[in-house]
Amino acid sequence: MQVDSIDFDNLGIVLYPDPRLKRACAPVTQFDENLRKLAERMFIVMREQRGIGLAAPQVGVLVRMFVMNTTGDPDDDVAYVNPEILDGENPRESEEGCLSIPDIRVQIRRPTRCRLRARTLTGRPIELEGDDLVARCWQHETDHLNGMLIIDRMGPADRIATRQRLRELEAAYKPATEARR
Ligand code: ZN
Repeated sequence: MQVDSIDFDNLGIVLYPDPRLKRACAPVTQFDENLRKLAERMFIVMREQRGIGLAAPQVGVLVRMFVMNTTGDPDDDVAYVNPEILDGENPRESEEGCLSIPDIRVQIRRPTRCRLRARTLTGRPIELEGDDLVARCWQHETDHLNGMLIIDRMGPADRIATRQRLRELEAAYKPATEARR
């Protein structure tokens, strides 16, 4: 799947339990203007929602790309395409939320340090090392591209604590209209 025929101005956040959040996304093969426009729109949605990261399936586009900015400085906007997480080490629990699952915070155990291999929006290969919030964000967003959410990784205590809120989200869910696909 490629990112053509998308109504970029109307892309909005996709909420749990939308089935698009459970799908494995397709690798990007065309590093073109449409991909750049998708990223641009995703940065806008991420800011509107006060997030630090956003994956393409969270706006309903099932391709392997995410944007992030962990500092709030616009100069730190970065998009990663076809990301792979490598060499995770030193796992630790920390609290995470997700823009697609509002009002839920859960403890997730992840490596605090890892490498990221990816491509830029222009297709240039990159490999980076990150730790703490950056490493956690890389892993959270890469999970999205594999259809994996924080509620799929949470422990038994959080499973009980979030049950009511997840039921509310399920009850409020309306399948996407054709216009948003
Ligand atoms: Zn998320």
